[in-house]
Amino acid sequence: MSKVDAFRKLFASPLEKDEVNLMYLGYSGVIVRTSRRVIIIDPADLLKDDEVKTLKGVDLLLFTHSHWDHYKSDVTLNIFKATKTPILAEPMVANDLKGKVPADKLIAATPGKAYTFNEISVNTVQGIHRGPINLYQIKIGELSMFHAGDSGYVQVKDYPSDFAFLPTGSPSPTASPEYALKMAMELKPSVAVAIHGSADQSKEFEAKMKEKMPKTSVIIAEPYATKTVTRTNPVNEF
Ligand SMILES: [Zn+2]
Repeated sequence: MSKVDAFRKLFASPLEKDEVNLMYLGYSGVIVRTSRRVIIIDPADLLKDDEVKTLKGVDLLLFTHSHWDHYKSDVTLNIFKATKTPILAEPMVANDLKGKVPADKLIAATPGKAYTFNEISVNTVQGIHRGPINLYQIKIGELSMFHAGDSGYVQVKDYPSDFAFLPTGSPSPTASPEYALKMAMELKPSVAVAIHGSADQSKEFEAKMKEKMPKTSVIIAEPYATKTVTRTNPVNEF
């Protein structure tokens, strides 16, 4: 399937209320579509102009931190221009966007605080990395998901989530398969999606999960493929 077809599928296929469509972009970048809402996290420079044009009804754009593999200002401004989405960002990112997007569309997220945008609620959690990093638990209707950026291990047991995006390593100096496993064991997701790691690191995470958390489905995310998953099992793969 071509990239453009994968984007079309992401936005077109009908979804039940327990399902989400996921598209992994690379690094920590993901687009998540539920039956009600669409969010994008850490798109970095991974969305080209013609792909930005395919984005439909984006409700929230989130950034975990300012590193190049998570945030790029010109791509962010392109996405904003096309979607007018509110942006919830770690304060260094928000500072960089100040004056470039309207103030009422830009929110700097402080760890420990919660934010609500039109049926989407977000808990902000302090991660551990070289420099500040926010992790996010996002709730849309009955579905919850956790995005761990490319953080090392921090305690996340207060944020159990249906879906977890967990970094397994490279090119992050702080993420690892062990830390991703530790966070998965606290988040107890139905589906864990391995992001931000080498193929070997993600395989190592998958093997550890099979042993310690056999009820959780593990997806090793492949860039620019749309996948439908439910709270209990992956149901479909395009
Ligand atoms: Zn990174």
